Amino acid sequence: MMIMASLDFIADHTHAAPGHNAGETTSGPPASEAGGILTVDLSALVANWLALSRRAMPSECAAVVKANAYGCGIEPVVTALVRAGCKTYFVADLSEARRVREVAPEAAIYVLNGLIPGTPPVYAEIRARPVIGSMVELAEWDAFVAGSQWRGGAALHVDTGMNRLGISANDAAALAPRIRSENHGITLLMSHLACAEDTAHPLNDLQIRLFREVRLHYRGIPSSLANSSGIFLSDKAHCDVVRPGVALYGANPTPGRPNPMRPVVEVKARVMQVRNVAKGDTVGYSAGWTARRAARIAIISAGYADGYFRAGGSSDETPGGFAVIGGKRCPIAGRISMDLMGIDASDAPDVRRGDFVTLIGDDLQLDEVAASSGTITYELLTNLGHRYHRVYRTE
Ligand SMILES: *Cc1c(COP(=O)(O)O)cnc(C)c1O
Repeated sequence: MMIMASLDFIADHTHAAPGHNAGETTSGPPASEAGGILTVDLSALVANWLALSRRAMPSECAAVVKANAYGCGIEPVVTALVRAGCKTYFVADLSEARRVREVAPEAAIYVLNGLIPGTPPVYAEIRARPVIGSMVELAEWDAFVAGSQWRGGAALHVDTGMNRLGISANDAAALAPRIRSENHGITLLMSHLACAEDTAHPLNDLQIRLFREVRLHYRGIPSSLANSSGIFLSDKAHCDVVRPGVALYGANPTPGRPNPMRPVVEVKARVMQVRNVAKGDTVGYSAGWTARRAARIAIISAGYADGYFRAGGSSDETPGGFAVIGGKRCPIAGRISMDLMGIDASDAPDVRRGDFVTLIGDDLQLDEVAASSGTITYELLTNLGHRYHRVYRTE
């Protein structure tokens, strides 16, 4: 009930859904009108954060909540994590930082994408910390800090092999005496692993070793290297703060091995109609899927505009993804449209107009759905259901 109260920020879009109960908060269109229902299990999310915290002990476990908390919703996700004790958050940009600040007044908030010219005063205003990723960004931040009273902190991002953001290890070493002597307010030394999910990749060890060298120059300043997969890669990657993102939301941080995380996201879509097609009939755009027998096709209200990727469709040549209908796995029939798709529900004869079928959940977990859609869990999550009814389960 306490969590319910703290989720009041969703109230402006809240509808009491049929079956609404004390452990749920809802948002988006009402369930009775929506084409789909996205359920985010916040207690599973918190359990995942606690499991990652335990694994990373004694390092601090932060949370990466960029891209609207990987599609799950910044406000409910951060509210739940604050209550669980998470104190440090990473976002991609300032608009996300503002949203985190609204629901986490005391948290440390780092902005990963770096400093946009002219924005240092905004960081001071919302008490966020830039992740400084180049020498020009550092110069702009230094000038701001020197000319203001602001000492709210910043991270220094050092590139150890990703070649995306970050100053070079050599620059970091050369800068260290100056950063340690003047008060630049660097509160975190950071780097990012390029191949953490591939435990055998030689770059992992190189990055861990190079980051150790850099950390030697910055003794006394907390350091951070590991994303979700990095936490499982090696204790040597843990440093002082770990930065899991995708694993919080239930994706497998250890590909090829059993998923240690609890599922957080479930997507169900509504059956709009069920039609009979004769053997030899085709279904959907381009007529690329042909019924090999008389079939019952459930047309469901989910398509690529809902974040179900077109690559998950099927044709006579290529199998696609599945939906679970009444406990049975049923294959997608034909191309995915913008708002609709067909499912061959011949093996689920009880399916009726108005029923809900599962697209993510039951035994269709994120990793499988991403693979059958030709993508990765990250892209799947960040595209989730903008027009779905949303249920946030808190118990
Ligand atoms: C996105 C991101 C993370 C989180 O990565 P996951 O693989 O989702 O755990 C951590 N650090 C940085 C710099 C990132 O960009």
